[in-house]
Amino acid sequence: MISVEKALETILADCRPLGFEKVNILEASGRVMGEDVIAQRDIPPAPNSAKDGYAVRSSDTKGANSRNPLELKVIETIAAGSLPRKTVNKGQAARIMTGAMIPKGADAVVLREEAEEKDKTVMIKTPVLQGVEVRFAGEDVKKGELVIQKGSVLRPGHIGMLAALGKAFVTVYQKPRVAILCTGDELVELETDPPPGKIVNSNSYSLAAQVRECGGVPILLGIGRDSRSDLAEKFQVAGRADVVLSSGGVSVGDYDFVKDVMADLGNAMHFWKVAMRPGKPMAFGSVNGVPLFGLPGNPVAVMVSFEQLVRPYLLKMQGHTQIFRQIFKAVSAQSIRKETGFKHFMRGVVKKEKDRYVVYLTGEQGSGILKSMVEANAFMVLDENVSSVKKGDEVVVQMLDETILRTDLPGFG
Ligand code: AMP
Ligand code: MG
Repeated sequence: MISVEKALETILADCRPLGFEKVNILEASGRVMGEDVIAQRDIPPAPNSAKDGYAVRSSDTKGANSRNPLELKVIETIAAGSLPRKTVNKGQAARIMTGAMIPKGADAVVLREEAEEKDKTVMIKTPVLQGVEVRFAGEDVKKGELVIQKGSVLRPGHIGMLAALGKAFVTVYQKPRVAILCTGDELVELETDPPPGKIVNSNSYSLAAQVRECGGVPILLGIGRDSRSDLAEKFQVAGRADVVLSSGGVSVGDYDFVKDVMADLGNAMHFWKVAMRPGKPMAFGSVNGVPLFGLPGNPVAVMVSFEQLVRPYLLKMQGHTQIFRQIFKAVSAQSIRKETGFKHFMRGVVKKEKDRYVVYLTGEQGSGILKSMVEANAFMVLDENVSSVKKGDEVVVQMLDETILRTDLPGFG
């Protein structure tokens, strides 16, 4: 049996990033950039107006005030998207819309609401300085500038920037194709009424959702029977994916054949059994050089093992450098006893109460209580050597999502 830290170290040392692919930027959100993006143009491409108003020569406006307004002749109207046709000379102004190009001669814009236009003349009541309400060419991005670095995780802002730069396709890290095989003679497929003694295979679906949540493509291989030959055959097929996940059959039961089949296939098994609860029975090895995670069968255990050991691996494969969930300290809402020698990942709900975070356990913590994963927004992580927690003690929480209930910010509860 090895520690969670050692298991993680072994797993990550084995992890090689996948190759790259070109995708349309509409498909690129959440992906990791596989190339540097250097601007091929200035943004904005030309000086333009930041407001609706009048393009003027700032020098003309010196000394203007409400008692002594300045009169300028309006020579044209410039709409966004059209080109100015005239030069603004001394004593002149052009009516201009937001985003329209600044005409020659003008160097500032007077807001429409601060001017009064009558009979092709506009009255300016306050002076403006050079450059006021003008957006300069390249003020956002300069041609030749490195705008997005290889390795960046693309968020909506990046996607907008790529579009602004005229890039419809980008190179990103590939998504891992993850084969999922659930073992167990007691399992029947979804949408079958389970006869006595049987249960629905739910692990395929929780795993598929977890794979998808961290950017992978799940491939459901269905149910493997508790026999060496069936598992061997199915693992061979699964070995064409980038990663193989199995669930169940990896403990010490009479029909737990996953480890044997891993050995039969002539591949190294790096470890078996991790000092964690839930999730102790877990094997890590490979089939035909493809990494194989033999995850436990219990519905909570399989999800916790995925979270702790598979998710970081899949994220690393996709070029992510932030591969771990956010952790912080919270106050335990209750006293807890625990056995030593195992790191515990208890399902909890973290809430923000006044100026502190408080974590409540979801209730029954058995590795088959899937409802605990429905309710939890975090794991309470208790180290191997910890034997008890008192109500009010600080504990580490690992967040599963961002849904922390806040009671201190009006309108944000
Ligand atoms: P095993 O590790 O194969 O002994 O499985 C441990 C427990 O998890 C047993 O109670 C199984 O019935 C249950 N289990 C195994 N695989 C699945 C699955 N795919 N879906 C739901 N429960 C499962
Ligand atoms: Mg089984």
